[in-house]
Amino acid sequence: MIGNRTLAVPGPTNMPFRVRQAMDVALEDHRAPDLPDFTLPLFADLKKVFRTETGTVFVFPGSGTGGWEAALRNTLSAGDGVLASSFGQFSDLWVQMCRQLNLNVTCIDQEWGKATPIDAYRDALAADKNHSIKAVLVCHNETATGVTSDVAAVRRVMDDLNHPAMLFVDGVSSIGSIEFNMDEWGVDVAVSGSQKGFMLPTGLAIVGVSERVLYEIKNVSTRDADTYLGCGYFDFHYMAETNRTGYFPYTPAMTLMRGLRASVDMLLEEGLDNVFARHHRLAEGVRQAITAWGLRNCAVDQANFSDTVTAILVNEDCDANDVIKAAYHNYGVSLGGGLSKVAGKVFRIGHLGWLNEAMVLQMLGGAEMAMRDAGIQFDAGSGVGAAVTYFTDTHAEKAKLL
Ligand code: PLP
Repeated sequence: MIGNRTLAVPGPTNMPFRVRQAMDVALEDHRAPDLPDFTLPLFADLKKVFRTETGTVFVFPGSGTGGWEAALRNTLSAGDGVLASSFGQFSDLWVQMCRQLNLNVTCIDQEWGKATPIDAYRDALAADKNHSIKAVLVCHNETATGVTSDVAAVRRVMDDLNHPAMLFVDGVSSIGSIEFNMDEWGVDVAVSGSQKGFMLPTGLAIVGVSERVLYEIKNVSTRDADTYLGCGYFDFHYMAETNRTGYFPYTPAMTLMRGLRASVDMLLEEGLDNVFARHHRLAEGVRQAITAWGLRNCAVDQANFSDTVTAILVNEDCDANDVIKAAYHNYGVSLGGGLSKVAGKVFRIGHLGWLNEAMVLQMLGGAEMAMRDAGIQFDAGSGVGAAVTYFTDTHAEKAKLL
């Protein structure tokens, strides 16, 4: 095809030239005497992105799924209680992993498009008088449906009830893009990956771990040796001990970490609050377009609309896959597909990472052409026009932020 392909999926995201350049280096010795000069400041700056002073951020070769496994295996034994909710493909897959690891999962099934149910979590935790629930799981941003959950509210519930469970958060499509406060929200393990807000290729699981978890892993023998899941490759303690010296327990993905250095610099130079405001603005432009098309957001409650991805419901007589295929084949635009329960019902626009207004308009224009090809009725240009109006009307507010 001639011209650029348009990447409108919610990860992998567009890779900035600066990140790509930072990775254009000869392969290097990961045991070089001066490696800590590179790694230790990187570990420190990653903590700023997770907004933790007391926690530690580990970088494992892997992806978000590996981060989920790391959280569970390091901290839990078979039979331990886990409270979770399934309301989309990713929240559901984490639950499935818990079951595969023989954890005792209390899963609150929600309609897809809803968020983590705070009241149901309260009820489940209040009923758990003997504290058999050891971990509470929250998928902060459900990428399949474009729903953001209120992690702070879950923490408040746990604190109100004085429940000692650990709080684990899937931040794969939120950290580095929308507000995430690891310390303030009392998150014990926060899981992310390299290919979304961090604007890198896939290949890293980036995992924030609280002081409490590290302390317990090191000092408290709460785990039954017969049932302990065993953490193997993702051992937090082993990683912490070697990271302290600036090195790794095994061969790290150095090239990706050179890119990570650049992406963390970009996030911190822009300022996290500006990053969050930019994502909100771009997401709002997409939402204005959907309304103008006469379509609906898969996310049910406005309060939970995601600023990193929007899943757009097509009418029942249409197949969203036709839109996705037309976008890809006719215009070189990759839209996100509907996963599992929402396959054929939604197409998704990822609006996270290295993105500006004009790039969002390109995605919306591509989606409009594809929707017309798929036979969806709407006024051509209406969505793009609504986004243009929103972006230009709010330009002064944006300027104030910078
Ligand atoms: N969690 C969420 C919210 C995701 O969006 C994804 C992937 O898109 C994952 C977990 C799994 O991450 P990975 O595909 O990097 O293993």
